Amino acid sequence: MQDNSFDVIVIGGGHAGTEAALAAARSGASTLLVTQSIETLGQMSCNPAIGGIGKGHLVREVDALGGLMAIAADKAGIQFRTLNGSKGPAVRATRAQADRMLYKWVVREALENQPNLTLFQNEVEDLIVEGTRVAGVVTKIGLRFMARAVVLTTGTFLGGRIHVGLANHPGGRAGDAPSLPLALRLRELMPRTGRLKTGTPPRLDGRTIDWAQLTPQPGDTPVPVFSFMGSAADHPRQIDCYITHTNERTHSIIREGFDRSPMFTGVIEGVGPRYCPSVEDKVNRFADKLSHQIFLEPEGLNTREIYPNGISTSLPYDIQERFVRSIRGLENVRITRPGYAIEYDYFDPRDLRRSLETKAVDGLFFAGQINGTTGYEEAAAQGLLAGINASRFARELESWTPLRHEAYIGVLVDDLITRGTNEPYRMFTSRAEHRLLLREDNADLRLTPVGRDLGLVDDARWASFTAKREAIEAERARLTALWLKPQQLAAPEVVEVFGPAPVSNGASALELLRRPEADYATLHRLGLADDGIDPLAAEQVEIEVKYAGYITRQQTEIDRARRYEDAVLPKDFDYAAVSGLSNEVRQKLIQHRPETVAQAGRISGVTPAAVSLLLIQLKKTG
Ligand code: FAD
Repeated sequence: MQDNSFDVIVIGGGHAGTEAALAAARSGASTLLVTQSIETLGQMSCNPAIGGIGKGHLVREVDALGGLMAIAADKAGIQFRTLNGSKGPAVRATRAQADRMLYKWVVREALENQPNLTLFQNEVEDLIVEGTRVAGVVTKIGLRFMARAVVLTTGTFLGGRIHVGLANHPGGRAGDAPSLPLALRLRELMPRTGRLKTGTPPRLDGRTIDWAQLTPQPGDTPVPVFSFMGSAADHPRQIDCYITHTNERTHSIIREGFDRSPMFTGVIEGVGPRYCPSVEDKVNRFADKLSHQIFLEPEGLNTREIYPNGISTSLPYDIQERFVRSIRGLENVRITRPGYAIEYDYFDPRDLRRSLETKAVDGLFFAGQINGTTGYEEAAAQGLLAGINASRFARELESWTPLRHEAYIGVLVDDLITRGTNEPYRMFTSRAEHRLLLREDNADLRLTPVGRDLGLVDDARWASFTAKREAIEAERARLTALWLKPQQLAAPEVVEVFGPAPVSNGASALELLRRPEADYATLHRLGLADDGIDPLAAEQVEIEVKYAGYITRQQTEIDRARRYEDAVLPKDFDYAAVSGLSNEVRQKLIQHRPETVAQAGRISGVTPAAVSLLLIQLKKTG
């Protein structure tokens, strides 16, 4: 009989579960990934794309910590773009259109080759809980697997119900069964459960689209790369997407379906993603808008199926068919799969610690869609963190979570556990108050060293990272030391860039780079650059120099707030003993049980005065 005991068990092989399993195994825990189907490991339930604004930042952070998502996107990406390319570096973001099948294969290959990781296909129906602590799982065929820590990442499957018009049936995602017994068990275990909803568009047969009528949208050149360890050579063949639009006729057909819409007739109770609304929601809410843009995105290199991004819907099928055919280029289109909405259980993330361990059951961690988020990237980021912390819990090590100024992962977790969410939460750059520090381009500088300490970063990544970091330091030092005398600054090619304004005592090349007229390419033209430098190291030097003022200001604010982040509130902190707190604030603090004074200060209604009282009490007792 095989040994069925592990350090960590991960339930679910979606985007959270695969990163969780890889992180736990990489950091040294013997890990089991149990999922409903090995065929659907890494499956993209909705659009075949990774990244975008805020989301791309998460992907780069997962990558900097040794995770898989960026590498998989590089190997499966069939179109890459840098969004906000003309804006400041803080909001620039990478997006990759992926070949859905290829993506799944890359994920599966990585899992199958990961030492310390065992895969098993079966549905988990129950959790084994001993006292207040999780001890294992029970599967549909009655197998018991034991572990010190369990990570639950079951996505949209718990109590899942699929809606197309007024017809609905249980399902975890189109073609997959829901997870029902486990949902019942978790409703018992977790204090606060709710229902959320998300939707997907119908898929189209590309052979029935009149491409000649449509505007192609090519990817960027040079082709962006997602992973710090990747290169454009990893990418498969690149192809175009196409753009079309809804029109007034489309909108009037959609309105005809309102009385059979599960959303508008109250059949669906769960709240949907505000920032990714269904097409009927858009037509209803923005009635004065006569047209909405649709991107026609290929689902892969070896399929004719097309994903029409922008028309997710749960309207009845006859309406879906009529409205898509009212769109330019789609007059004769055939639908291959109907659009649908799905409702599912989620758990109030305020019932989690910042390690993503539940407060209700020791050793039980939650990650992904079940925490009220939406998106592969948000799921992957949480999965990685939960995997790290489950592994550390099993090995009796302290948990690790980045703070808000260290990573978008920190912002995501802090937002969820402090404020909770009553609609599917997605990442935006505007959620990060220190976004100038949290750029895609410096995710490795922020996180790879800690990833190395956590045992997540292998030797190859570490060697590549340290070489880049040394190149940045050397170039900064070289440019600082490279001094241009006044007569050199008066040379015609320099005046052409910077104007004739005299610089009294000369200037260093670094100071010239700081000027708004210059970038690193200017230094190249003036013969001041290091021709052999890694372009990514040069980019870092340029960004750090240009934004130095803002970055220093943000750093000062962070340093000032540090004592609040460092002030840990013990699990059994006695709020009743803090004199001067209002009853309302006291109740909120007792309910939330924040882990630090900084987190307490971010709970709505907790005033700066209350924060000071907590600090005083901590000093008294500690
Ligand atoms: P999932 O990717 O759903 O993975 C869950 C995994 O757990 C699956 O492999 C499943 O088989 C497994 N599992 C479930 N129960 C059990 C069990 N009891 N035992 C063993 N294994 C189990 N995101 C967006 O950003 N934008 C969108 O527009 C969008 N639309 C969506 C539309 C639909 C219809 C769906 C289904 C999802 C949509 N999403 C969208 C969400 C996106 O798919 C998820 O955010 C992402 O997949 C969440 O990852 P996850 O790992 O949490 O869960």
